[in-house]
Amino acid sequence: MIDKSNLFKVPNSNSNDAKIKKIVYEIDKSFFEKFKKDSTNKEYLCICSGGTTSGCAKDNYITVDLRKNYNKIKFDKKTGIINIGGGVLMDDLLKNLDKFNRTFPIGLSTLPGIGYILTGGVSPLSRRYGLAIDSVITVKGFFGNGEYFSLNKEKIIKEKEHKIMEGIKGAAPFFTIITEIGLKTFKSYPIKIFEGFINKNELEELIIKSEEFPKNMSTQWIFSDQIYIYIVVEIKTEKDKILAEKYTVDLKKYSSLKIRNYKSFNDVRFFPKELNLFELNLSNHSEVISLLGNDLKNNTKDFIAVLSEINFLKPNKSCYVASQQLGCNSNKKK
Ligand SMILES: Cc1cc2nc3c(=O)[nH]c(=O)nc-3n(C[C@H](O)[C@H](O)[C@H](O)COP(=O)(O)OP(=O)(O)OC[C@H]3O[C@@H](n4cnc5c(N)ncnc54)[C@H](O)[C@@H]3O)c2cc1C
Repeated sequence: MIDKSNLFKVPNSNSNDAKIKKIVYEIDKSFFEKFKKDSTNKEYLCICSGGTTSGCAKDNYITVDLRKNYNKIKFDKKTGIINIGGGVLMDDLLKNLDKFNRTFPIGLSTLPGIGYILTGGVSPLSRRYGLAIDSVITVKGFFGNGEYFSLNKEKIIKEKEHKIMEGIKGAAPFFTIITEIGLKTFKSYPIKIFEGFINKNELEELIIKSEEFPKNMSTQWIFSDQIYIYIVVEIKTEKDKILAEKYTVDLKKYSSLKIRNYKSFNDVRFFPKELNLFELNLSNHSEVISLLGNDLKNNTKDFIAVLSEINFLKPNKSCYVASQQLGCNSNKKK
């Protein structure tokens, strides 16, 4: 007979296939007691929020699945802070904020859970609003030793708590189980996107141009069998409007780029169907790996040549590069 407690469905194929030891849906002090009583009784835990990585389930590990009991969302109109459970998906976060004309700098996909925020969170809006983790105001959860914590970034006095908060901002998945976070949110403004297929020469030109972009603009491109680019412009201020008009004249030179206008960042979806990619293709076992780099400047041509070589050798369509532009406010320590 199948052990039903081991049936676990997540978007990541590797985790889906893992022969996990047990699933735990509720986490409190008693969960840690049995390990404290017997120090030889050690268990390895995986935490599942969105379940989009191979890190949320492994053979013989216990998975703490936060999606079932830690999925509450509560927005405070007065402070603009939204409290979300450790198992909330970015899709649900945006849907909730949209009711209040607010937004949050999520990444290129709505599929991830709060793992997106806890691992930094690079968004097309990061050049203006910083990384997703920079917007964390409060945090609740447990350390690996079972100790509970509840911290508010704006009310920290003790040096020790300050250090813990810094640690959580840099490496939460390595030593905590986060059950709830409070996030700063932002008023929604219109978004203009220039998007379409481009060739390698155009990519080179556009990367060089984008390295001079103001903070309300960012470039993301997906390099697979073909190259698809998104130049995202947020129009919040009068200055943004003037800049958008200036860049529209310049970008119209690229005849393949279409202009799309959105009421809010919440309405934008990346990963075009025409590229024939899938955000997560269940028939291939894949993992998202993140690399940070500086501006490419004079190295842009060589970079594209190397990327083309690697791309030629890829085994399937689940292997692609999704590049996101950082800089401006995402470079500043918050
Ligand atoms: C299609 C796609 C597009 C993406 N686009 C972007 C992007 O634009 N920008 C970007 O920055 N990233 C992007 N990512 C990467 C993604 O944000 C990370 O892989 C993230 O860790 C996934 O989080 P999750 O909650 O979905 O995954 P999970 O597999 O549930 O968790 C991932 C890791 O975080 C830990 N974790 C999750 N929740 C908690 C918690 N509550 N407490 C403690 N640890 C926890 C887990 O232990 C695990 O190690 C993308 C991923 C995919 C699949």
